[in-house]
Amino acid sequence: MEKSGNKKIVMSGIRSTGFLHLGNYFGAIRNYVRMQDEYECYFMVADLHSLTTHPETKELKINVHRVLAENIACGLDPNQAALYCQSHVPETSELYLLLNMLAYKGELEKTTTFKDKVRLHPNNVNAGLLTYPVLQTADILLHRASLVPVGKDQEQHLEMARNFVNRFNHRYGEIFPEPYAFNFGEDLIKVPGLDGTGKMSKSENQYATIYLSDDDELIRRKIMKAKTDSGPTPTNTEKPDYIENLFLLMFLVSEKNTIEKFEADFNNCTIRYGDMKKQLAEDMVKFVSPIRERAESIRNDEQFLKRIMEQGAEKARKSAGATMELVRQAMGLNY
Ligand code: ADP
Repeated sequence: MEKSGNKKIVMSGIRSTGFLHLGNYFGAIRNYVRMQDEYECYFMVADLHSLTTHPETKELKINVHRVLAENIACGLDPNQAALYCQSHVPETSELYLLLNMLAYKGELEKTTTFKDKVRLHPNNVNAGLLTYPVLQTADILLHRASLVPVGKDQEQHLEMARNFVNRFNHRYGEIFPEPYAFNFGEDLIKVPGLDGTGKMSKSENQYATIYLSDDDELIRRKIMKAKTDSGPTPTNTEKPDYIENLFLLMFLVSEKNTIEKFEADFNNCTIRYGDMKKQLAEDMVKFVSPIRERAESIRNDEQFLKRIMEQGAEKARKSAGATMELVRQAMGLNY
């Protein structure tokens, strides 16, 4: 059941675990910015999700402020979309608890992101980590959202969210629409790391990741260090992964004719990877530096960020409150 009114509802979030990077931008934020005019949008800083892997909270405030500032610097308008902090909407925890009764241990243990995190943090396999997809589902369902702009790594979580929705609706009545991962126009995106393996990420893989706060020199250095080889033979051969990844990055930030030139050079075996990386580095600097500069000017304005968060939370709580009324009614928690 969608909310009244014609606009579809959009919800997504980014964890406050460090510096935002190109993966966050192209997987998520670019879509947020494009969607904000057309849809009813809720975007949040997922501070509670951060606690599953980052129990130390000394850096939390600065990270929350950074994520907010970087979202705004990328073009998000807090007067259009509700931009808020997850813990400022306490209904989140109530719905999370109720949905936990519909989530089975077996399916949670099979989640790819859970298995990855267990490998990375073997000494902190906490229940919050296990139930991460349930909390994420609560975030989405609180607004009865049907579109969730996210990167490819989140596809399985959305599939689980649909399972939880169907179980809830089947048992208690049709309250929620099925949420789907969304990316404008194309398939969901995975921005690869510069080392040819894995994806760009906030907290792992730091030299292989380009952050929106990297200065020009650091961006150039990271790209020039990316793995290449002595060049393709024979003509029109398949690209190895690490070269494919460089083209993928070029596809995100460079002009069409630049990409076509290097594609042609690759196919007729005349490509010079040094030249390609120099071009990619310059295009990347041109893309990242205005965002970095805007974010720097916002990040330290605590008053402004606080006001944005309060305004966003007020909107989000209103939507969450209405949903929780329906949930309590449907479940018979209304005595
Ligand atoms: P991270 O994995 O860097 O900690 P989050 O888990 O907070 O980031 O994810 C925030 C959003 O950014 C999600 O929508 C996620 O799908 C997207 N995202 C993160 N890394 C990438 C990537 N390398 N490529 C595409 N999207 C990504």
